[in-house]
Amino acid sequence: MECARKRGAYIQVPQNPHPNRKRPRAEDADSPIRPYDGEKKITVAIDAELLECCVCCGPLKSPLFQCTRGHVSCSECYTAGADMDYECLMCREPETATRCRAMERVLDGLSVPCAFRDHGCTETVPYAEKQTHEATCAYLPCHCPIPGCDGYSGGQSLRHHVVVYHPEVARTRVAPRRLTALRMQLADQARVLRLGDDEGREFMLVVGRDMPSGRALSVVHLVNENEPVVENDFKYKVEVVGKTGVLSLSGQPEAVDRLTKPYQATAFLFVPNAVWEADPQDVPVFLELK
Ligand SMILES: [Zn+2]
Ligand SMILES: [Zn+2]
Ligand SMILES: [Zn+2]
Ligand SMILES: [Zn+2]
Repeated sequence: MECARKRGAYIQVPQNPHPNRKRPRAEDADSPIRPYDGEKKITVAIDAELLECCVCCGPLKSPLFQCTRGHVSCSECYTAGADMDYECLMCREPETATRCRAMERVLDGLSVPCAFRDHGCTETVPYAEKQTHEATCAYLPCHCPIPGCDGYSGGQSLRHHVVVYHPEVARTRVAPRRLTALRMQLADQARVLRLGDDEGREFMLVVGRDMPSGRALSVVHLVNENEPVVENDFKYKVEVVGKTGVLSLSGQPEAVDRLTKPYQATAFLFVPNAVWEADPQDVPVFLELK
């Protein structure tokens, strides 16, 4: 098709290069873009920023809009701009409600490698499905709160990982509403706790080693594989009995199915080394769950 720019001001009637073929009807603002049906693929390297919204830097997803200066924004940011008298949030030029169909078509035909290629994933997925794929990718790197563990790849839950890769972590059955002595050893990094007789309710006491002068104890609720993470009513109390007093922390354990970011306890009990190391064979840790 003839390039619009070449027509110039003196050509009054643009030539149809294919006179036997009807011109396609102009699309209105809401009609769907023609789906990309290309078989002919080429490989290109592209600056990742070009596939991000100019305003929120999130991945571009159709429908896309552009301002008079060509800043492309996602529909969420366009809507936010609409609340501000149709200004582009980047340059404050008027927002035109113009769909950026060229970019929509480019995105439509784009396939990208999974972000976890370096971890072994060889999948190439349509750009629009990239986030969905990566959330469930079998090579998704996951973190483990047990000190010294480098984490694991795959979609499995932390609970599954602890069972398979940490046989050294002891398990203790804890009766509900009763402080139970865990009889931990000096070098213990964690303890799995099963609440009552219900096989489904497991928790983990993590003995954090981030601080040189002591241990940071925290409790997580290990959620079952494929179980949705919901707010729960579980409560814990952890106590460490020293010669000069009792250290205590109560709270609600954070429910964890898997950690896609390094573990950071939402609350922890700091136990100075002098207290933790007083009896290497029986560190006086007590725990209650309900
Ligand atoms: Zn945006
Ligand atoms: Zn702009
Ligand atoms: Zn993948
Ligand atoms: Zn681990």
